Amino acid sequence: MCGIFGIFDHDEAANLTYLGLSSLQHRGQEATGIACINNDGTKMEVVKRGGLVAEGFGKEEIRRLKGKKAVGHVRYSTTGASIVRNAQPLYVNYRHGDLALVHNGNLLQSAKWRTTLEDKGAIFQSVSDTEILIHLMSRSDAKTLKDRVVDALSRVRGAYSLLFLGETGMVAARDPWGYRPLVIGKIDNSWVFSSETCAFSLINAQFVRSVEPGEVVLVNENGLQSFFPFKEHKNKAKCIFEHVYFARPDTNMFGHSVYKTRVRSGRILAREHSCEADLVIPVPDSGIAAAIGYAEKSKIPFAMGLIRSHYVGRTFIEPSQSIRSFGVKLKLSPVKDLLEGKRVVVVDDSLVRGTTSRKIMDMIREAGAKEIHLRIACPPVTHSCFYGIDTPTREELLASSKNNREIANFVHADTLGYLSKAGLLDSMGDKNPESIYCTACFDGNYPQSPSADLATNMPPSV
Ligand code: AMP
Repeated sequence: MCGIFGIFDHDEAANLTYLGLSSLQHRGQEATGIACINNDGTKMEVVKRGGLVAEGFGKEEIRRLKGKKAVGHVRYSTTGASIVRNAQPLYVNYRHGDLALVHNGNLLQSAKWRTTLEDKGAIFQSVSDTEILIHLMSRSDAKTLKDRVVDALSRVRGAYSLLFLGETGMVAARDPWGYRPLVIGKIDNSWVFSSETCAFSLINAQFVRSVEPGEVVLVNENGLQSFFPFKEHKNKAKCIFEHVYFARPDTNMFGHSVYKTRVRSGRILAREHSCEADLVIPVPDSGIAAAIGYAEKSKIPFAMGLIRSHYVGRTFIEPSQSIRSFGVKLKLSPVKDLLEGKRVVVVDDSLVRGTTSRKIMDMIREAGAKEIHLRIACPPVTHSCFYGIDTPTREELLASSKNNREIANFVHADTLGYLSKAGLLDSMGDKNPESIYCTACFDGNYPQSPSADLATNMPPSV
């Protein structure tokens, strides 16, 4: 998963992009970057750094980024490959001038595309699938930036929310299925784009609307124009896992408050998997909203039985004597006085590999909990995602080979209950949610068949 942000024609373009990216930090912590084009469109400056936005950008970096138009990116860690080389924005100076591109999503059949293009002489600078679009654009005979974008996109399949910054304008695009989010806002008469609305809240931009699935938006000195150049799909495939896990709870995504859908999912989970217990405990931060819903519905008191440290995410210095689950303990700490002797319902948003969950269950039990009833606010994750969520191969997905009882044993929980798919879809509050959301990670119903892609994918840029 990644986050993208763009702003067109604002005196503080780089500064606001920095702030926007900071709000999107939860979507990727591996690397970050901003591209800014100067006002006469003759010089594009790009700064890319490994790590967090605040670590990578200081006053000096922002000062270097001169101009009123900028795009930025936060990258989620997916491969062990060189961090900065694969960081975005991807930048090239091609025959039509400077071009910067940021991508959230994952193109299908990327390795095949790469080979095809390399056979024709293309030289790739990164191992990211996003670069395919640059090569396709540079080969396009179309006369305008927007038409070159359309030309390139009409040849690829997959999931994309994209921002292109060129000399003549900015182009935003979302694939026809609408897997990944992208929203449009306005600040002081300037257009802004973001993966999530939470970035608009920070900079006081006003949310205008979503970029629609299949829409290509051009912004230039004539204002904003909208195009629908691709074949329409009747059904959409918006990623429901964004609502389950990825998006920030203060974001409104696909027309719904993420906080509210998560609380609703918790209420439905309580209805589907009730139990006798003394406390409902969230796994912070991901399980908090669903736990609130669970507690509300079950009338079991909500308590913060685990405290998350917001200051230490990882450390390179470990104690010399081995401490069990040291990594997880750095992040989470149990409140012993609360948990001792209690029967607790532990609520988390999802269970993927189960390795973290097992450590958390052990920690809660060591703190004295008498019974642990694990409740997960989404269905079992049984299938890999090819559209930009970094879910591991099927073998690593706990629920792809184990039943509920086996999973409960694996994570050391006394009982386990997953929200049903119908329950999750219900929590979105739409009519006909099956025709709106992609649920492939839960049911293997891939909107675009991945069979041909399994062997031909490059590491996703997500
Ligand atoms: P695990 O015990 O390894 O299955 O980890 C489950 C935890 O990982 C849950 O608390 C989720 O909030 C979180 N999670 C779910 N999906 C992802 C993802 N794609 N990347 C990172 N963490 C995730």
